[in-house]
Amino acid sequence: MGISTEVSTASPTAQEIWQRCLEVIQRNLGANQAPIQTFLSAVQPISLQQSVLTLRVPSQFFYEYIEEHFSPLIVRTLRRLLGPKARLEYQVMTAMEAAPMRLPSQELPPPMVFPGLRPSQPFPTNLNPKYTFENFIEGECNRLARSAGMSVAQRPGQTAFNPLFIYGEVGQGKTHLVHAIGNYARLLHPDKVILYLTSDRFVQEYTDSVRSKKVSDFLQRLQSVDFLIVDDIQYLVGKASTQDMFFHIFNHLHQKSRQIVITADAHPSELKSMEERITSRFAWGLAAPLYPPDYETRLAILRFKLRQEGVEIQEEILSYLAENVQSRVRDLEGVVIQLLAETSIRRRELSLSLAEQVVSRFKPLRTRAITVENILKAVSNYFKIHIDELTGKSRRKEVAHARHIAVYLARKHTRHALKALGEYFGGRDHSTILHSCQWVSEMLPIDQELNRHVQDLERILFRSA
Ligand code: ADP
Ligand code: MG
Repeated sequence: MGISTEVSTASPTAQEIWQRCLEVIQRNLGANQAPIQTFLSAVQPISLQQSVLTLRVPSQFFYEYIEEHFSPLIVRTLRRLLGPKARLEYQVMTAMEAAPMRLPSQELPPPMVFPGLRPSQPFPTNLNPKYTFENFIEGECNRLARSAGMSVAQRPGQTAFNPLFIYGEVGQGKTHLVHAIGNYARLLHPDKVILYLTSDRFVQEYTDSVRSKKVSDFLQRLQSVDFLIVDDIQYLVGKASTQDMFFHIFNHLHQKSRQIVITADAHPSELKSMEERITSRFAWGLAAPLYPPDYETRLAILRFKLRQEGVEIQEEILSYLAENVQSRVRDLEGVVIQLLAETSIRRRELSLSLAEQVVSRFKPLRTRAITVENILKAVSNYFKIHIDELTGKSRRKEVAHARHIAVYLARKHTRHALKALGEYFGGRDHSTILHSCQWVSEMLPIDQELNRHVQDLERILFRSA
């Protein structure tokens, strides 16, 4: 413990102390720092009083995440810098705080209005008010994207998540989520100009502007936006000049700290249809995945959507549905609609056998059950590690990594109990299995390589199932 860890000023500020904590965290992270740094940059140190450092975090998720992963390190650092009584406290930003106009008026100065100075929202936002955060169910599969989305809606352009790049396969909720982000941003910042465009629409409008010789109007309009959302960027193809135009607008907005949110069907590094100079910029902010929904999330989404439609359903039938419609959120909605049709129009009773019939109609989309054997085979092929080694005792780093992933996938996609899974994995006990699952779920939001491995494997499994 060297002198250098002491803070030299008589009374350090919260900012200084937090900076030191960040340095310590960085030193302790090793590889794969970028996502964590991005993550931590959304945290604001707001006060330091009597050895208590208070951090302001964008959401409950950030709080839990930091508490779980970094708090021992942070507290140790604080104690070293400030003495044994040092503590860490959090302030979780609420929607109310971020939306001052919703607070009781006596607590707020009257809003300053400069009529005519800047017409707020001079053109349609294209936002669909029906997609909100309230009806976007949170789960393991979307936690990072959802939480980062809330942060950028609260502090557009002011977080490190710029651009916020949300990626996932079709039907996983990208469009819903970005509309929710836009709607929330609009509620919190009525003075900001928000624009949602699909990339098809972008191409269309740009092409029209070329045809009618109004390119500079088009450019001006897009560059005046405070919050730009472009959905399905993978379709931004066509003439090279279209991508040029996008590149130009992107740079302009980014430089002015306007918020940019983009969605795509793949991670920026896999967007083959786009120029590298553009996709490499997507990595400036945060790339957050939307995964196929896990069992718990499927259950929650079904429950929510059925309740919304006023359908009563037995838990047993609900869990049958959640177990058997595994692929996409959109299919879960399909199931709900069909059940509704059967029960309300054809007046059938909502029984397990009706549920089975409805599920069987989703056959082409519904995946055959994924088995532990399939998972072991896929993981073994993917990492070029023999199955015996995966289920064996080896502690080699690569083997342990692959094994963690296999266990995690088995837990997520099969319905075996921990104990039974332990048997598949060479007679490990249930706590070892649980530990692997926890490790992977905890690392997924921050470890992009792990992320990619899991996603690749899920793709392989769903394709072959
Ligand atoms: P994508 O743009 O990724 O293809 P969408 O946003 O169109 O997917 O989502 C497909 C459907 O699933 C939409 O009707 C959307 O409302 C619904 N959906 C997706 N994710 C969720 C979620 N987490 N909670 C509730 N509904 C969701
Ligand atoms: Mg979409």
